[in-house]
Amino acid sequence: MIQLKDKYFETFITADEIRKEISARAQQINEDYAGQHVVFVAILNGAFMFASDLIKEIIVSCEITFVKVSSYRGTESTGRVDEIIGLTTNLRDKNIIILEDIVDTGITMDKIHKIIELQKPRSLKICTLLYKPSAHVGIHKPDYVGFSIPNAFVVGFGLDYDELGRNLKEIYQVKELKKAENMLNIVLFGPPGAGKGTQSERIIEKYGLVHLSTGDIFRANIKGETELGVLAKGFMDQGKLVPDSLTIDMLKSEVRKHENPKGFIFDGFPRTNAQAEALDHFLTEEGTSITVLLALDVEEQELKSRLKNRAEVSGRVDDANPEVIQKRINVYVAETMPVKAFYQAQNKFIKINGEGSVDEITSRLFGAIDAL
Ligand code: AMP
Repeated sequence: MIQLKDKYFETFITADEIRKEISARAQQINEDYAGQHVVFVAILNGAFMFASDLIKEIIVSCEITFVKVSSYRGTESTGRVDEIIGLTTNLRDKNIIILEDIVDTGITMDKIHKIIELQKPRSLKICTLLYKPSAHVGIHKPDYVGFSIPNAFVVGFGLDYDELGRNLKEIYQVKELKKAENMLNIVLFGPPGAGKGTQSERIIEKYGLVHLSTGDIFRANIKGETELGVLAKGFMDQGKLVPDSLTIDMLKSEVRKHENPKGFIFDGFPRTNAQAEALDHFLTEEGTSITVLLALDVEEQELKSRLKNRAEVSGRVDDANPEVIQKRINVYVAETMPVKAFYQAQNKFIKINGEGSVDEITSRLFGAIDAL
């Protein structure tokens, strides 16, 4: 999937399919005009790539000219006036084929047809790469069609969205993002002991989000003695990060388990820049994105004392050992802190004071979410 300005597009017709289709249309024209001379009139800007590829396969005698259609307000009586700019070739008594990238409603094509007809060509036909039969209301249907397509917005291979995308080798169709507008996707960020788990519970209850804690998922895998659990345990017990490849794949499959969620709260993920980039890319593919990163800010001494208290109830191996706790804090500073800049660059970073009572911190978080 690709993004052009505010829209997302997915591949619709591949470069190979385009190449084969253009070749087939060229063969058809070669047969129909065998022994004759053809003048191609290609409509700029969109048709430049199509025209260029098609004409390479034309073996009958031919010439090509490029024109633009312009529309301006005439006098009261004439109303809107259309003219073709750049048409210097004499078309009288010639076999003309108009080359267009797409025939949509066909209104523009009818106007071009009318203007060219005034020059009294011997024959006049239309060849288009794309044709939208369901949108067509014009008089002149295209004679040569590459692909008949549904009435959806397309870009690539000469076609643009706000002048972008003409350079693409393939043709893309707009992807409607139903989820993105409605979903609330929060990254709850902070060092070990910042209160991410506790606060996540409260946030999901209020906003109806799905809670995805990578630490919890790993611990469940360890308990279930899965292959992933066995792999992760060694890293976790030492306070190290589980390798990105394992963590990212696991997270993706967890996200995909939920159909039409209101949103996610990512707790303990992303923990590296590679994870943040992978998450961005993956959510784009899923038609959504991160709304905000809420970073709980807590002093190191306070973290250590919270983790010491938690060790008494959590039963977590990595909470019980001060050396492992220190290692986790060090890993956070070295590998996870840089993720902050990733979201700052996207204007999605909000720092929350993570010290005080649990209720106070919750209301700060709710305040930040409600203000989004
Ligand atoms: P947590 O429950 O978030 O404190 O995570 C506990 C441990 O699970 C961490 O110290 C890591 O070993 C591992 N872990 C959790 N989330 C991730 C992640 N996103 N990337 C790598 N390792 C993780």
